[in-house]
Amino acid sequence: MGKCGVCSSEIIKFLSLGRTPLANSFLKKEELSKNEEYYPLDAGFCQKCALVQLIYVVSPEKIFKNYVYVSSTSSTLRAHFKELSEKIIKRISKGSTVMEIGSNDGTLLKNFARKQYNVLGIEPSSNIAEIANNNGVKTLNVFLNENSAKKIAKKYGKADVVIGTNVFAHIPDLHGLLRALKILLKPNGFAVFESPYLIDLISKKEFDTIYHEHVYYLLIKPLKYLFGMHGMELFDAERTKIHGGSIRFYIGMKNKRKINRNINDLLELEKKKGFHDISTYTRFAKDIIRLKKELTQLLGKLKREGNKICGFGAPAKGNTLLNYMKIGRSTLDYIVDNSHYKQNLFTPGTKIPVLHPSRLLSDKPDYLLILAWNFADEIIEEQKEFARSGGKFIIPIPKPIVV
Ligand SMILES: [Zn+2]
Repeated sequence: MGKCGVCSSEIIKFLSLGRTPLANSFLKKEELSKNEEYYPLDAGFCQKCALVQLIYVVSPEKIFKNYVYVSSTSSTLRAHFKELSEKIIKRISKGSTVMEIGSNDGTLLKNFARKQYNVLGIEPSSNIAEIANNNGVKTLNVFLNENSAKKIAKKYGKADVVIGTNVFAHIPDLHGLLRALKILLKPNGFAVFESPYLIDLISKKEFDTIYHEHVYYLLIKPLKYLFGMHGMELFDAERTKIHGGSIRFYIGMKNKRKINRNINDLLELEKKKGFHDISTYTRFAKDIIRLKKELTQLLGKLKREGNKICGFGAPAKGNTLLNYMKIGRSTLDYIVDNSHYKQNLFTPGTKIPVLHPSRLLSDKPDYLLILAWNFADEIIEEQKEFARSGGKFIIPIPKPIVV
């Protein structure tokens, strides 16, 4: 059993999803015969600060060196980033410096660059930083830590705002992150982070968003505790729909800003609904065992009836689901994904080929298991022709349904 990443108390294991390869380590054809590395995928709860976290942590250098997730491939995400940038722009003055941690291909920062803000991306994956730079978004290929933060601040100046979407929960050393953040920020600057919200994850049974890249599963309670340890404070927060339900939170140095009552409202909501209590999590673990049974039985039945089933979307979370439920090529012939970075690769562990979506029209499978369920509306809209020719969709969570 490990120690809590925020308060160092003992964490209590409540969920085991078995051993899985890293969820983004898609394989090239010539790698199919090599032995993949598997790591335990277990989650635990801290009774002191209510932080949910992985028990076995894989080093981020191993995970993010060569990454295949590219933001701009989703229209939902592009729209979301536009909305986020507009909200931030309301809080900063013209010509401000905007930095982004884990800036990916620069999709979010482009919204600021277009309006003449100074932008700087900080992206640990060399292949993705290169895409961003080619897109005209100035991006440094570094891991953010205190050392690199000092160099960045010296060379490029400090930031009025630092943004991190879907990155906060990925960094095992949260205290190191906050020390680096304080170096990057001007004294009156602030940071905005957005991460999946644990209330949504648990309520909607989004167990598949648990994978080694996501070390932490956040609530306001542990965040408040964490920032307090660094002389910082949460001054605003809101829930957003992205990635199955996220929390967007704003932090600055202590006593610099009026604290929005949203913070206390969310804290009360978490408490009232039992999210500060381990029994909620042990119940969740039982629900997931049931979900596994329901989905595998549904797929088994459809196969026995002679249906051809394929997957739609090859997100990292899909690999948690496939590996945990042991769904392989005997169930899914292949998976299609819009991202050409994933096409012609194979899923880690289950070794299912990932192909271009055009394959669906020539091939006409009977069912599509939507692994990228957070973009289900977008996918169903896009695949009208598949539905018109009689194809059906299976949405796996919170309860498997056929539409
Ligand atoms: Zn803790």
